[in-house]
Amino acid sequence: MVRKDFVFGVDLDGVVADFIRGMKPIAAEWLGVPEPELTDEVSYGFKEWKLGGKHGYENLHRFALRERRLFEVLPVVEGAGVALRRLSRRGVRIRIITHRLYIPWFHRQAVVQTVEWLEKHGIPYWDLCFMAAKSSVDADVYVEDSPDNIAKLRSAGKSVIVMRNSTNRHLKGPGADSWAEIESWVLGRFRPAG
Ligand SMILES: [Mg+2]
Repeated sequence: MVRKDFVFGVDLDGVVADFIRGMKPIAAEWLGVPEPELTDEVSYGFKEWKLGGKHGYENLHRFALRERRLFEVLPVVEGAGVALRRLSRRGVRIRIITHRLYIPWFHRQAVVQTVEWLEKHGIPYWDLCFMAAKSSVDADVYVEDSPDNIAKLRSAGKSVIVMRNSTNRHLKGPGADSWAEIESWVLGRFRPAG
C-alpha cells in the first residue's frame, strides 16, 4: 500500500510571520504614541495596547491591512523559512492553515498579500487553507500559537507543538522557542511516503 504524504499543518501569524513585531509600528502610528510605549508582552487581542472600544482591534486591523499592507510587510520569524525549506526537501508536505479572513470585504487583499509574502520570503507550501476551524483541516502534526486553536486541535486528538510567545506560555508542551526545535520535533515524527 502506498502511504500518503506526511502533512505538516503550519499556522502563519505568530509562527512564521512575526505578527507582534510587524503590527507594533502600525499600532503606534494609529494610536499616536511612541512605539516603545507598546509592550511586547501582549495577550491574544492586544488589549495591553489599549486599542479602545468594542471594535478597537478590528479598526486597527483594517487600517493595517488596507493602508499599510500588513500581510506583505510582516517580518519572518527567525529561522522559519530555512527550516520549512529543509523539511519540504525531505518530503514533508507543508500545509499552511491560517485564519486571516476575519474582516468582511478585505478577503482579496488578505489573500493577495499573503501569497505575495510567501513567495517573497521563499516559504514552500503545497496547500494554503484560509480556515477558522483549524481542526477541520487534516494534518499529521501542527504548529500553532493561538491558545484557543491549540486547545481545539488537542481536544480533537491532534498532535500540536506550541510556538511559544506571550499569549501561550501557560500552555503545556510540547512547545518550542525556535524553529530549530520545531524542525527537530517534526522530523522525530516524520514518516516518508512510501
Ligand atoms: Mg497564529
